[in-house]
Amino acid sequence: QTRFLSSPFQAKMSRPLQARRLEGIDKNIWVEFVKLAATYSKVNLGQGFPDFPAPDFLREAFTRALGGENHMLHQYTRAFGHPPLVKVLAQFFGKLLGRDLDPMTNVMVTVGAYQALFCCFQAFVDEGDEVIIIEPFFDCYEAMVKMAGGTPVFIPLRLKAPKDGKLMSSADWQLDPAELASKFSERTKAIVLNSPNNPLGKVFSRGELELIADLCVKHDVLCISDEVYEWLVYDGKEHIRIASLQGMWDRTVIIGSAGKTFSATGWKVGWTVGPDRLLQHLRTVHQNSVYHCATIAQEAVAQGFQRELMLYGKPDSYFVQLPRELQQKRDWLVQSLESVGMKPIVPEGTYFLVADISEFKSDVPDVPNSDEPYDYRFAKWMVKNKGLAAIPLSAFYSEAHKNSYSHFIRFCFAKEDATLKAANDILQKWKKEKTSS
Ligand code: PMP
Repeated sequence: QTRFLSSPFQAKMSRPLQARRLEGIDKNIWVEFVKLAATYSKVNLGQGFPDFPAPDFLREAFTRALGGENHMLHQYTRAFGHPPLVKVLAQFFGKLLGRDLDPMTNVMVTVGAYQALFCCFQAFVDEGDEVIIIEPFFDCYEAMVKMAGGTPVFIPLRLKAPKDGKLMSSADWQLDPAELASKFSERTKAIVLNSPNNPLGKVFSRGELELIADLCVKHDVLCISDEVYEWLVYDGKEHIRIASLQGMWDRTVIIGSAGKTFSATGWKVGWTVGPDRLLQHLRTVHQNSVYHCATIAQEAVAQGFQRELMLYGKPDSYFVQLPRELQQKRDWLVQSLESVGMKPIVPEGTYFLVADISEFKSDVPDVPNSDEPYDYRFAKWMVKNKGLAAIPLSAFYSEAHKNSYSHFIRFCFAKEDATLKAANDILQKWKKEKTSS
């Protein structure tokens, strides 16, 4: 054994295994909560994915691509995007943005929006660069900025108290203009904008977007605009693309996802749209990391977009139907939560809903000075004891701000009505037990 310990092999192993860029980012909410949900949940409103099927036209397109005559669809395609997909994306986004887009240089297909984000941070962020992130935020932004060597700079949306008797709305969470301006400096390389926002469901107004745009132009800052929930907007609200504002096209990368757009998160097809001067650098990262994503999935998504281009704005369009259905589900969950005293923040967009759990504090008592924020403990207790899975809101905050936002949890309502009903049954039973004890 002594001989073994002193072997040269052992000596080598004393060097750190992991690269420095991974320091501090090895903990991940999804690993833990996806496992908990799989082990304990009877009803899973945690992770963001629909439990209803992707639309028939999309699944049929996939099957046709898979079993059809064109056997080349089983081989590599163009690295930066399967030609039929980049063509239709250029047409579609060209129409939305009111500008001519070149499919080869203004569009790049990625492995989900995740990889689009990764390409952006790797392509634009250097050691010492700062990237502004608006809290609460999709958690991987922070890790990806750090992995690229950059420094995340956080600015929280501030909650304005709603009018008496009114439900809270995601619109009550607002940027403080002076606070936002104070975050920009000569070190700022980019800001990440996520509208509609995961987890709050906030849809940024034109005024808020203009505020961000003016600061970007003034300080020559890039905007990484994560718009994966662009079609999931409710109550007649409008999703405004920041790239369409004055001075912003040249400095914005728009990110989208077929996973969210067509309710097919497992396909992992995403895209970026932007000026060639930015996208050329994304292509370098993409080429040298994943090369491209599954050809058949890209072919099917291309056909989905061709259909949507034809039906644009018409009642049969999936982009019209999906938000209509989801709005009903949202309203249903709002009612259900309200009736048990979990105060919902009514989202203007996305398929997420954040609720205030303060009234349930007596069920899961706080442990002051614990390392774990209260909402983490609450969500873990809830899935283990009630079988209902949700995600703690503080997971979407930086370490410094987690404890100020630890009495909310996030639910996903892109679920079959039967799933939402089962969630309601759990909540109503829980409420009854509370009142009788
Ligand atoms: N951005 C946001 C805001 C998201 O919520 C998600 C998925 N939860 C992604 C990006 C990743 O999308 P995809 O599944 O297409 O990689």
